[in-house]
Amino acid sequence: MTRPSIAIVGGGFAGIGSAVMLSREGYGDVTVFERGDRIGGVWNYNTYPGIACDIPSHLYEFSFAPNPDWSRRFSPGHEIRAYMEDVARRHGVLDKVRLRTEVTSAGFDESRARWVLETSAGRHEADVLLTACGQLSVPRIPPIPGLGDFAGPAFHTARWRDDVDLAGKRVALIGTGCSAIQTGPSIQPDVAQLDVYQRSPGWTLPKSDFEYGPRAKRLFRRFPLIARLDRQLAFWFMEFATTGMTRRRWILRPFEAVGRWQINSKIKDPELRRKVTPTDEIGCKRIMLTDDWYSTLAEPNVEVVTDAIQTVTRGGIRTDDGRERPADAIVLATGFSTHGFIAPMEVTGRDGRTLSDAWAGVPKAYLGITVPGFPNMFLLYGPNTNGGAGSVIYAIEAAAQHVIAGLRELERSRARTIEVRRAAADGFDRELRDALAGTVWHSGCANWYVDENGADPNQWPWTWSTYRRRTERVEPGAYELV
Ligand code: NAP
Repeated sequence: MTRPSIAIVGGGFAGIGSAVMLSREGYGDVTVFERGDRIGGVWNYNTYPGIACDIPSHLYEFSFAPNPDWSRRFSPGHEIRAYMEDVARRHGVLDKVRLRTEVTSAGFDESRARWVLETSAGRHEADVLLTACGQLSVPRIPPIPGLGDFAGPAFHTARWRDDVDLAGKRVALIGTGCSAIQTGPSIQPDVAQLDVYQRSPGWTLPKSDFEYGPRAKRLFRRFPLIARLDRQLAFWFMEFATTGMTRRRWILRPFEAVGRWQINSKIKDPELRRKVTPTDEIGCKRIMLTDDWYSTLAEPNVEVVTDAIQTVTRGGIRTDDGRERPADAIVLATGFSTHGFIAPMEVTGRDGRTLSDAWAGVPKAYLGITVPGFPNMFLLYGPNTNGGAGSVIYAIEAAAQHVIAGLRELERSRARTIEVRRAAADGFDRELRDALAGTVWHSGCANWYVDENGADPNQWPWTWSTYRRRTERVEPGAYELV
């Protein structure tokens, strides 16, 4: 096998980025499957008012496709999606994408060393399988009693209903994570009443967002080094913050002081201050960036409700204290099912073993990329490759580079399959779990990384530079080439 054919599942940053990187390496037979009607991944599905990146734009872009035209320091969602489409088009990848095609299962045919994919548009075969399904693609609808019987519209932030006009309505916003703190301030001026149902508050830092005027854009275009420098500064600042979350917790103390200052400077009412001030360690939940969340909560048409939701009635929400607040619409900013990874797709490797059997409830992969028993398969943005700070695109590029290194080995050794050795995968997993135990994410708050049994299939417990260093080559002995 010289130039293998490659099937990629998912048309978001991981799918499109890896397709471009593979094309640039001369892999021409690449097919990307995307179930949506356009590429973009989370940026296609999340279109709620106020959606924007919370990573500086010059870091939240492919290193091989710098964009001097971002309109703001933190670009809005629609611009990011358009950027992805532009990159795909310019690199000739757009016509490799099969839209509205869902991969329902993938099985490895050992005798032919081929992956056989069953898709909504028929069967497809390839030598190599890349999954690029994201970690935040399945909205989590909480099992709140009565939700199904609510008389008005109730929808998740990742499935925003443009046909529902919230102007002048009483809106219940459930959740106070990254999605809520962007949606809330955007809808508050238009709605009659905004009730924010908060289960546990998270720490925030000032976003300090600003527009890039024509002069700044010209500068970025003429002197790309300036944008590069901005990228490097943002990168190393986040590496510093990550070191605080993973090893040297004292680094986080000044961050917490700034978070506290932000609450106190924006909110005068001591009771509201108390409600929104977290008691857990900063960084345990993802740190949120905002310039307008607290001022929104202090508006007269906003109430922060901290009593637990007991039930949704036909006309509103009843809390544990027995009080019912009327609502015309419910917005669920309740996050995502983050522990399923490739689900609902079913993947079967050697010996007919499925990936869910191999994982037995806790997804894991060597460097977050490869799994013993699943030859010629690579996961992008796989288990334990989410960071507390930093750009996921950086991690995706590093993982794609690992795929390329693996494929080079495959070609060099004239092998048909490459598969991580169990000893390498188990050794890595032990090292990972040891490192995770000391991180801030395991300090006892509710976050979307740690499951109810304390297992964490999401977080990378070191810096992103470490990830890049460890993934840039294929360690001798880690993989078996057959
Ligand atoms: P999230 O961080 O998981 O937040 C979900 C929120 O819903 C939390 O406040 C949670 O409370 C609350 N919640 C869940 N179930 C509930 C229930 N039954 N009753 C009451 N409250 C409930 O989800 P997210 O805000 O969508 O963000 C997820 C991730 O997406 C982020 O961490 C980030 O990585 C990414 N994101 C990025 C951006 C960006 O700007 N780039 C924007 C949005 C999201 P608890 O905290 O108490 O569990």
